[in-house]
Amino acid sequence: MEAILKKQLEDYIDSHRQEMLDLWRDVVNLEGNSDDLAGLRLVVDRFKAEFEAAGMTCQLLPMGDKTQDYLVGTLGSDRPGKAVLFSGHYDTILPRGKYGPSPFRIENGHARGPGVLDMKGGIVIALYVIRALNAIGWAERPLKICFVSDEESCHEHNDKAGETLMREAEGCLCAFNMETGRINNDICIGRSARVGFDVAIDGVAAHAGNDFASGRSAIAEMCRKVLELEALTNLEKGSTVNCGVIRGGTVANAIPGHCELNVDMRFLSQAELTKTVEAAKAICEKTWIDGTHTTYSYRVAMPAFETIPGVMELYELTRSASEAYGYGSPGKIVLGGVSDASYLTMAGVPTLCSCGVRGENNHTDEEYGLVESLYERAKLLTAVVLHLDEFKY
Ligand SMILES: [Zn+2]
Repeated sequence: MEAILKKQLEDYIDSHRQEMLDLWRDVVNLEGNSDDLAGLRLVVDRFKAEFEAAGMTCQLLPMGDKTQDYLVGTLGSDRPGKAVLFSGHYDTILPRGKYGPSPFRIENGHARGPGVLDMKGGIVIALYVIRALNAIGWAERPLKICFVSDEESCHEHNDKAGETLMREAEGCLCAFNMETGRINNDICIGRSARVGFDVAIDGVAAHAGNDFASGRSAIAEMCRKVLELEALTNLEKGSTVNCGVIRGGTVANAIPGHCELNVDMRFLSQAELTKTVEAAKAICEKTWIDGTHTTYSYRVAMPAFETIPGVMELYELTRSASEAYGYGSPGKIVLGGVSDASYLTMAGVPTLCSCGVRGENNHTDEEYGLVESLYERAKLLTAVVLHLDEFKY
């Protein structure tokens, strides 16, 4: 049975290599950074047509006038059992045309082009997993997709992103976020939350020689706050607070009347995030130098992808399927960079991230994906879905 399934899924993927590569090339050449609504439209229309051709019922969900629609779809909604979700984003980070027209190319087994790795390849993999399952005749559970258009901008102009992802994930058995795969084959089982925390202090500017006593230094007040904020770092818990940018003062002979600070915070759990943000607010609300006034604002750019119950079991199932089928033994990793897997686990759905094409250097000119990993990962994830009846937690 096992051997027959293995041969069926491998035959399907192997006989569609050129088709997979052609689609990957086409969608990379269409580009589409988060703000390029016209470019993104071409990408999402192409993906929608492809998933529909695979039998899915698809829908485009409007996200306001600064964000392109999200693509969602279901196959086999009348099937028994909980659905399996494939998620990801179809936007890229680099400005259109940076590499000229048709930027997709292959050199020495490395595919290059904007978003080739992060993460157009992952969406192509999800499509061919679904097609392979159809070809094998597997119909045990519904299959779902949810691909967003603004992950690279951390959903900056779209306050419906989180709730939409959580709603689409709600009730699913498990999810595979088809993000950038790790070059060493590691699968991501957790990611930090990211918070941007900004502080501004107004003091009293005065001449440093003639009128020193009238001054109230915004920089001196900020320095005390910087030390206290950074002391909130707790490496054991994976919580970091980095006061990364500071601007203040005008000339050396004036008491500085204004100072601004930009802080980056990362957390492995939502509980640590809440606790630390509350502590940071308390630091800002305390005044050391009378006559200074502090204001602050913060934004949760992305919540934590927590290793909730079921994540490790899903990883173990993936690792054992990979070993059984001869695709190697993937390791596991918790990453500091953010992804939308956060919202899927917030909906209580065990999720693996970094399931897409393997490669390196995303967000840079040197981004590449390993061409062979397009086929390998499609085979692996098809095998994992075929074995989901063993997924228990
Ligand atoms: Zn990405």
